[in-house]
This record gives sequence, C-alpha cells and structure tokens, in this order.
Amino acid sequence: MDEKIRELKARARAAIAETAGSLSELNDIRVKILGKKGELTTLMRSMGAIAQEERPRIGKIVNEARAELEELLAKKSAELADRELAAKIAAEQIDVTLPGRTGEVGHLHPLTITLNHIKQIFLRMGFTVEEGPEIETDYYNFEALNLPKDHPARDMQDSFYITEDILLRSQTSPVQARTMQKNEPNTPIRMIAPGRVYRRDSYDATHSPMFTQVEGLVIDKGISFADLKGTLELCLHELFDADAKVRFRPSFFPFTEPSTEVDISCSACHGAGCRVCKGTGWLEILGAGMVHPNVLRMSGYDPDVVSGFAFGMGVERIAMLAYGVDDLRLFYDNDVRFLHQF
Ligand SMILES: [Zn+2]
Repeated sequence: MDEKIRELKARARAAIAETAGSLSELNDIRVKILGKKGELTTLMRSMGAIAQEERPRIGKIVNEARAELEELLAKKSAELADRELAAKIAAEQIDVTLPGRTGEVGHLHPLTITLNHIKQIFLRMGFTVEEGPEIETDYYNFEALNLPKDHPARDMQDSFYITEDILLRSQTSPVQARTMQKNEPNTPIRMIAPGRVYRRDSYDATHSPMFTQVEGLVIDKGISFADLKGTLELCLHELFDADAKVRFRPSFFPFTEPSTEVDISCSACHGAGCRVCKGTGWLEILGAGMVHPNVLRMSGYDPDVVSGFAFGMGVERIAMLAYGVDDLRLFYDNDVRFLHQF
C-alpha cells in the first residue's frame, strides 16, 4: 500500500509539472487522480482490505498525499491562469491610434428641411402651426372658400374624389376654415397650415399629383394689404436672398379680394433673364390676397369688424429654387445619391 501511494504521488507530481497546456488539461489530471473515480479516491476506498491496526497510518499517508497534490494543482492552476491571461491581453491589444468606425448618420429629407425653415420663419413672427385632415369634405375644400359647386375656378384644382362629397384635399386652405369655425367669431388668427395636398396633375418635372403646401392666414382688426406685403417680403428674404426684389402682380383667387401673385427677382441672373427664370428675370413664388368677405362670413367672422390676408406656397417649388433642383420627381425617387447632397 505504501508503495502504491508513493508511486501514484510521483506520477501525479510529474504529470502536474509537465503540463504546459491549458487549464482544462490540468483539470483532466485533477479528475483522474482526485476525482470521484480518481486513482487516489479508489485507493482510499480499498482501505477496507487493510488490516485494522494499519488503517490509521495508511489513512494519514493518503490524506497527506491528497493535501500535497491539491496544493500542487492549485499552484499550477494559478500559474496557467496567469499565462492564459497574459496571452489573451497580448492577443487582444488595441491600437488606439487607429481611426474610429462611425455609423452612418442620416439626415432630414430636403423637403422637410425646407418646410422646417418656413415654419421657423413664421413661428418667429408669432404664427401657430395648424393641421387638418387630408381627406376632406367638398364643403371645407371648396364651398367654405367661396368656391360653390359649378364655380369655374374649381377646374384649376381638379381633385381625386372618393365620393361625390369627399375628396383628397386640393389645398390646405380647409384648415383655415376649420380653425376659424373652431374659434369664437372675430378671434384674431395668425396661423400657417402645412401639409400634403392632391391634384389630378400629370407627373412631370414640375407637376406631381401629390405635393406639399404651406398656407397662411392672418385675421385681426385693421389688417391691411401693407401687412400682407411686409409679412411675405420678410418671409421671402429669409428663404432666399436678403436683397432679393419682391414683386406683387394682380391676380385672381376666389377666396381673396384683391388677389396677388408674388414673384422674387431671379437669384441665378439677378434680374437679367436666364434659363431658370425663362428670360423674365422673375420667379413666381406664391399666391396671396386679402381674405374675401364671403369667406370670413361663412366661418362666422364679421368682415365689418375684422379683415385679414391669406397666402399659399408650394414647398417643392421653393426647395427646387433654393437648392437648384430642376426636376420635382427627384424629391420622391428617394435615390440616396441625390438625397446625400443636402
Ligand atoms: Zn434668371
């Protein structure tokens, strides 16, 4: 028995000392000798076969052997762990001088950028931003805006009808009527209504059956055409050049009287005439006018007490001029090569 233990100890010591490999290899040795079915454990189990008086002595030797081997294993284990950690650190060394990897960050669509710019200009002037449904009734889209059925001006805004009385709105003006009706009569209003509108137009470089509009409405006591001019001039100078010239031309809209088209001097040729302005030196930007008394009356406002002005502009057109885009459809293609440029 003594001999067996001595031999086992020597073998185990050698095996532990020779292990240069991994912690798992060392663990294999531990299991083989000290495990439940390990060699030393089996020796201890066979103590029953030893003479009674020998048992304490042999037991002591076995326990000492076990303690010694456990200590050796622990030492070696620590040694191997250190080595593995050192190897891991060496392998995973980071070159902090390498340039970092950044994720690609997107940005807002050019139409959203333009619309946000327009909103900011009017918010600074104390306007509110109002919204309304894109599916509208004939009443709000036309009648409340002084466009009774059979009015010839309805042809300018041929729309998509869902039923006889429900359609995709052809302008954001219905929001104006809705806001007026929501208010107590004659409550002052300073609002813009941005949003998508729909018209039965062909899809080409300057037309689309769906586009974005911003309409505005100001109503208060004593609002005059001078307020309209001042507000729109300020807006256009902010959107384009601060020194651009602004021109008001007489026009006709059913919901305003008098009505005006508003042009700015062409920023490409500064009024000399070029391809962008088709040789005129001017760019047509928006339509506006003093709110028609009928429109005020229909929404419960009294034209003898208050007056107001309204205007509307196409966001796509402004974005095209601001960014020098010559085809409206580029905004909707969502080609990232185009969108990356903004
Ligand atoms: Zn020009």
